[in-house]
Amino acid sequence: MAADAGQHSTFHGIGVSAGIAVGPLVVVTPAPTAPADEAPTTDAAAASVTVHGVLDEVAKGLEARAAVAGDHAKPILEAGAMMARDPGLAMGIDNHLQAGKGLTNAVTAAVEEICTMFESLGGYMAERVTDLRDVRDRAVARLLGQPEPGVPTLTVPSILAAHDLAPAETATLSTDTCLGIITAAGGPTSHTAILASQLGIPAVVQATGILGVAAGTTVAIDGGVGEITVNPTADEVTMLEERKKRRAAALAGGTGKGATKDGYPVALLANIGTADDAQKAAKQAVEGVGLFRTEFLFLDRDTMPTVEEQTATYTAVFEAFGDRRVVVRTLDAGADKPLKFADLGPEENPALGRRGIRLGMIRTDVMDAQLEALAAAYKATGADVRVMAPMIATQAEAMWFAEKVRALGLPKVGIMIEVPAAAIRSKGILYHVDFASLGTNDLQQYTMAADRMQGELADLLNPWEPALLDVVALACEGGAAMGKPVGVCGEAGGDPALALVLTGLGVSSLSMAPGKVPAVRTSLGLHTREQCQQMAAAARAATNAADAKAAVLDMADPVLRDLL
Ligand code: PEP
Ligand code: MG
Repeated sequence: MAADAGQHSTFHGIGVSAGIAVGPLVVVTPAPTAPADEAPTTDAAAASVTVHGVLDEVAKGLEARAAVAGDHAKPILEAGAMMARDPGLAMGIDNHLQAGKGLTNAVTAAVEEICTMFESLGGYMAERVTDLRDVRDRAVARLLGQPEPGVPTLTVPSILAAHDLAPAETATLSTDTCLGIITAAGGPTSHTAILASQLGIPAVVQATGILGVAAGTTVAIDGGVGEITVNPTADEVTMLEERKKRRAAALAGGTGKGATKDGYPVALLANIGTADDAQKAAKQAVEGVGLFRTEFLFLDRDTMPTVEEQTATYTAVFEAFGDRRVVVRTLDAGADKPLKFADLGPEENPALGRRGIRLGMIRTDVMDAQLEALAAAYKATGADVRVMAPMIATQAEAMWFAEKVRALGLPKVGIMIEVPAAAIRSKGILYHVDFASLGTNDLQQYTMAADRMQGELADLLNPWEPALLDVVALACEGGAAMGKPVGVCGEAGGDPALALVLTGLGVSSLSMAPGKVPAVRTSLGLHTREQCQQMAAAARAATNAADAKAAVLDMADPVLRDLL
């Protein structure tokens, strides 16, 4: 039930992207489905008039949004409007109505027929399927008397509430109009959470209460501590504003290289997913890129991009960073990041299946094309390029990958430690490569056997979990024994308190959403390396994640609390 307009309440979710915002709530409606028990059509002519009228309304709505949309969204909305007006679609629906199907089922069946045809044509046409299904969802919602689904155009700066958001939906949000994101589902390391922090939008996930709050209600969100206040009082807004100011003051601590108070260097790097991210991150005070998630370039693509296209993209990214390092991860497709052109078919447990390097070793055509493009971009720019593979579990995989990368003349090769086996045996694995980067998101899900997509398991996915810290420590011991650097590029690295623990455990770089770098830089600068080591020991000695965090906050400079 929706909350009364003036009702005040406070509840918590999991803060996944720090920052504070106050604004009106806009609720994202889920897509409806055609009811199975819908009344059949008896008067096809009258039904046709109704459906055509609805399609016209859908088209007009999309055209109105296109008229005010930015460059990125405009063509997508215009294409949708054209599809809603397509006579072929109208004819297909009429055929189903004449055969007696109910209104929404006729729309659904006709759209699926066209989608099947588009998919068989491949390429550009196949990519239109998403737009067509969007038209279907809007028409079905209207026929059912429901609001149109999906993220609406935000005309005033607002806070978005949804059951969950797909990465593609999150990626199109603008920081000008989207002040914050609150989802009822989702986990702290879901890719939607990662994208939100990449965009610098305060976000809270697992806030189940949000779906009971009416659209238009004023809501305050603190994405750092995961607190949501519905209809905040003037005093609460003032307190949040003060916290925001204290945080801003604490963050104004310079733009230099990352280092502890006593000068122990810890490189502060950016996580990026697209060429656009690269342009934005390059303008920030970061020491380079610690994780370029290349698969994000190819989400929603039906065919593999050509070597030339990839070379152009990688070249642009390398050029943006000049002589700063760029750590590129080869395609990590599969599980929660399915790529249509690298799909090996359904699996019972995709996260434990043929993903990451496993997929790369099967689809060597995809791996080879990507490495060829990376080598060409490296030759064209002479940039500080370091290429690493995801999901390495064995020495054999590391050797296979390192040989390939070196054969192409790429200067540095590394691996991600995301599988506990690789952390436990990091010494042997590091023998074959130049560096390792800890993917704490996956390392956590595999250490705890808790699906990172399963928001309900958020407790097991807390990166303060001492078992995860023990596994990280093992990886660092292997790195120290081999004299090879071990960094962190999972979300844990962007937590200003956990960053101290990771530093104490021995990591040499931390890579995160660029918006998180200032807080981590300030936090490191407030503590010595020895303090970090003491904090790491205290966190590992704790019996659970909450105690580990509490122990570290007790030992830390009080300013750290304002950075969270
Ligand atoms: C990780 O698993 O921590 C990581 C950085 O990779 P991704 O989040 O893209 O799986
Ligand atoms: Mg991973």
